[in-house]
Amino acid sequence: MIAPSSPEGALGAAPGAAPGYSELVESSPDALLVVAEDGTIRMVNAAAERMFGYRRDELVGSDHRLLLAEGFQNALQGLFFNLRREAAQPPAHTPVALDGDAAAAGADTAPVEAYGRRRDGTEFQAEVAGALLVTDGGPGENTSQGTGEGTASMIAAIRDTSHRPATDDGLRAAMSLLSATLESTADGILVVSSDGEIAGVNNQFVSMWGIPRELLARRDDAAIMAFVLDQLQDPARFAEKVEALYADPGAESRDALHFRDGRTFERYSRPQKVADEVVGRVWSFRDVTAAKVAQDRISRAMADLAEQSAQLKALAFQDSLTGLSNRQMFSDRLAGALADPGGTDPASTAVDVLLLDLDDFKEVNDILGHHAGDQMLMEVGRRLRTCVRPCDVVARLGGDEFVVLLIGSLDADAVAARIVDSLRVPVWIDGTMLRPSLSLGLASICEDAVDASELLRRADVAMYAAKAAGKNRYMRFRPEMMEALVDRNNLEAGLRLAVDNGQIAVHYQPIVSTSLGKVIKVEALARWIRDGVLVPPKQFIPAAERSGLIVEIGTEVLLRGCTELKDWLQEDSSRSLAVNVSGVQLQHGDFAELVLAVTESCGVDPRQLVLEVTESVFFEDDCHVITQLVSLRAAGVRVALDDFGTGYSSLGRLQDLPVDTLKIDQSFVAMISTGTEQLPILSAMIDMAHGLGLTVTAEGVETAAQAGHLMDRGCDALQGFLFSRPQPEAALAPALDKAARAIGAMRGDRVPGSR
Ligand code: C2E
Ligand code: CA
Ligand code: CA
Repeated sequence: MIAPSSPEGALGAAPGAAPGYSELVESSPDALLVVAEDGTIRMVNAAAERMFGYRRDELVGSDHRLLLAEGFQNALQGLFFNLRREAAQPPAHTPVALDGDAAAAGADTAPVEAYGRRRDGTEFQAEVAGALLVTDGGPGENTSQGTGEGTASMIAAIRDTSHRPATDDGLRAAMSLLSATLESTADGILVVSSDGEIAGVNNQFVSMWGIPRELLARRDDAAIMAFVLDQLQDPARFAEKVEALYADPGAESRDALHFRDGRTFERYSRPQKVADEVVGRVWSFRDVTAAKVAQDRISRAMADLAEQSAQLKALAFQDSLTGLSNRQMFSDRLAGALADPGGTDPASTAVDVLLLDLDDFKEVNDILGHHAGDQMLMEVGRRLRTCVRPCDVVARLGGDEFVVLLIGSLDADAVAARIVDSLRVPVWIDGTMLRPSLSLGLASICEDAVDASELLRRADVAMYAAKAAGKNRYMRFRPEMMEALVDRNNLEAGLRLAVDNGQIAVHYQPIVSTSLGKVIKVEALARWIRDGVLVPPKQFIPAAERSGLIVEIGTEVLLRGCTELKDWLQEDSSRSLAVNVSGVQLQHGDFAELVLAVTESCGVDPRQLVLEVTESVFFEDDCHVITQLVSLRAAGVRVALDDFGTGYSSLGRLQDLPVDTLKIDQSFVAMISTGTEQLPILSAMIDMAHGLGLTVTAEGVETAAQAGHLMDRGCDALQGFLFSRPQPEAALAPALDKAARAIGAMRGDRVPGSR
């Protein structure tokens, strides 16, 4: 018996000892190897050294496959496996070949044809025979059942058969090619026979699954399966699949296996057939972890991109200040609503556009600054949202223009009214209470189909009508409003012609002094008599400001005023001429020069000229305005603050402005009816102005009661129909007389010292 634990560690390792097994082994012409279960060479004889060209110490400890040519490397292990299986089976159960040939029963353990490989790489034909190394414990060390647990060894005898006629070279080549192919593929391949036993694997399979060689060598299919399943995230699913495939031997299938360590294998399985008979199943596994990681990364990048693009898209459709939709979003939604009316029910097909614009918003911006303007717009945006359903679109079109789109609304008029009403509650901005208002135009698709731009145009026309009708209201579009729009365009064209043809006239309205009891000033007011009809300045002045024509009109009024009133002014140096000046004129850098050139050319003392401006001109970004007024005042021209008390004017800012006179707006004067009422605001204005060294003129005085009340409050000058309406130069003399008489009468009526 060969003792594997021989101290020399090799077959016949004790030359010179008494002849015995060692000599027998050493002198054997066949190469003899003892190979452990895991394929490691434990011992070799001298013939093995000669046959393969390795030294004994090189061979012992190496893998025996070193000695087998490609394509035959599993030859020995196959033999080993069969030997162990045979040893484990009681003789009665010796497997019987399916074809009933009893002789074939031992064929599994019979010597096999193989090719050996020498150290120099040359290959030779060989025959390999094997036997289990029998120890006292039975076949295989520590082995209680032949193919069971524990390790075993095999003794292999390799005989060089080069001298024999060559075996089928074609078969050999084919085997070699097949093996090379299997080993070179990146796929791990496992072949399982129909009875569930592992018939073959390539190295890639073993390394991909990390299956220990010993486990493989033991051919313990159940243990290998357990090893495999243990690595999977969902072993039950895989086991199920395997079972299903064995139930259906002809089936092909593929799927992905996810490992607990994060790897992913692509699995492909197909039947192995010999002729038409299914004899087993080939499993191929491909490690697609890298590809999957890349794919995941791409998917994640795509998802990120999609998210970013969604954000960008949201931004592209959002107004950055208010967070409302923007024009683009509104247009898209309107186009969508018009394209798909959404049913036949008139309520669900309703599409309403509510266009709105804050009244006098420019003043908030000009007077309180852009920050306050922004706050106001944000607050209005918030209030608008509370007036509509979440599904309605509220967009800011730009500036102080907003639009609301109602789809399927039952009562757009109610929504419009609610919106106008929403600004009733004052807005607090930086500690200042503001009462903004808005004008809203409403247009709806009704019987006549209209496109988006027409709908918007109608809403715009209606909004313009709401402004023209006095602001702070909503108006629904009516076809007649179109005519008003046409009129508005005609107006601008006509005004241009009128200016070119010198058709702008000037009327004068006397202003009386309450202390002197006489006319001390006249205000020049532009007049346009169009085809014999007087066009109200409230209509054509805004048009002139929009078109820039106000510059020419203003110059014309100044020139005519100075020319026509020159004599009246020269009679008394305390008299003066007041001319209205629009902000547009002040933005021209040469305005001051122009004014002084006109007075000089007409021979009018600049000290007899008063320029009436509104408070908003001081808050233009343009610093020309202040510079111009300052240099004009330096030349003696006086400045009056017109329409004081309207819009967003404030007493607090008065002291900073380069003005000489305050003109209290008619709306305050209109509050006086009996003359006995308490009007603290009016008194405060007058007192404050006086405190700042300004004179005060009240406009729109129509009744004696008003005049009396204003005189009682210490107002310096009065202007209004009570004294005279504005008159052309030709009718000025009687107008001046009438005014002087009226103020004289007022003073005469009064009990001296009653003030
Ligand atoms: P304004 O500067 O406040 O002019 C006073 C307006 O009040 C004038 O209206 C005048 O006719 C009117 N008025 C005077 N007394 C009374 C009264 O007792 N009761 C009533 N209800 N109204 C009275 P008008 O002439 O229609 O001018 C309107 C506005 O047009 C002016 O208001 C001014 O802002 C502007 N405007 C007129 N002419 C010019 C001009 O040459 N240049 C510029 N920039 N604006 C002008
Ligand atoms: Ca005025
Ligand atoms: Ca005024």
